[in-house]
Amino acid sequence: MAMLIDGKRISALVREEIKEKTAALKTEKGIVPGLAVIIVGEDPASQVYVRNKARACEEVGFYSEVYRLPAETTQEELNALVDSLNVNDAIHGILVQLPLPKHLDETDVLLRINPDKDVDAFHPYNVGNIMIGDYRFLPCTPAGVMELLKRSNIDPAGKKCVVIGRSNIVGKPMAMLLLHANGTVTICHSRTKDLAAVCREADILVVAIGRADFVGADMVKPGAVVIDVGMNRREDGKLTGDVNFSEVEPIASAITPVPGGVGPMTITMLLQNTFTAANK
Ligand code: NAP
Repeated sequence: MAMLIDGKRISALVREEIKEKTAALKTEKGIVPGLAVIIVGEDPASQVYVRNKARACEEVGFYSEVYRLPAETTQEELNALVDSLNVNDAIHGILVQLPLPKHLDETDVLLRINPDKDVDAFHPYNVGNIMIGDYRFLPCTPAGVMELLKRSNIDPAGKKCVVIGRSNIVGKPMAMLLLHANGTVTICHSRTKDLAAVCREADILVVAIGRADFVGADMVKPGAVVIDVGMNRREDGKLTGDVNFSEVEPIASAITPVPGGVGPMTITMLLQNTFTAANK
């Protein structure tokens, strides 16, 4: 039976530490970390994420502002808001909730955010820094995975790490962070040949595909650590991961559940990045 990597517990621990550091920053330097979140349109999932981010800020003692813009907002209006937040001293982090409505250019907006306030680490400047291994802001979900590994005493050094998924927000930066932690990393995707055989090589398998229950026992080496980044909605509304938990859990040495694994860490690492920006 695998050790359960409890993202809820670890996230609560990290948030408590951020809360303490925030109180000290306020007392010692008079700085309160400030996060601005911009959401355009009415996408229900995005609305939930934004609410959770604002609540998390409040819990650790941050200042936060949420800008809810109508779906018909123009590129000029959105850019003007980002420009004003870039020079607002009370705001240390700016986050534009994605996806944006189709008529808006995501790249244009993300490029406009001051890299010093880019707490999602999506700006090419910060992406480049991640590549070099000289980073201030870490992409939140991969950073959350690294924190889960660290606090579970799982060291990627010298281990065979396989990441399934090569998106810019999860797969690629995940692979890079594992590499910087001295793992030997393979990245897989939809064109990978004999995916199951590649995955069976992994000491640490990170799955970020977006397909419910995709990874079964046949893709996992006995004793491997399995990290499930996937978040999929079943027809009954329940959240489920990319890993078939009931099949894989008996053979893995450690595994993250969904929900309650990687998910809670993502916002926690956003808080960490915002604190870092404020403390600069
Ligand atoms: P994405 O942009 O859709 O990328 C999915 C990746 O999976 C792609 O690289 C794709 O390969 C690969 N893939 C798809 N089907 C595959 C298959 N049959 N075999 C091998 N590879 C396959 O998704 P994402 O944004 O990275 O998100 C991945 C999952 O993580 C989603 O479930 C998402 O909801 C979840 N997520 C969770 C959090 C969190 O906080 N826990 C945060 C972000 C995302 P190609 O490149 O070849 O198409």
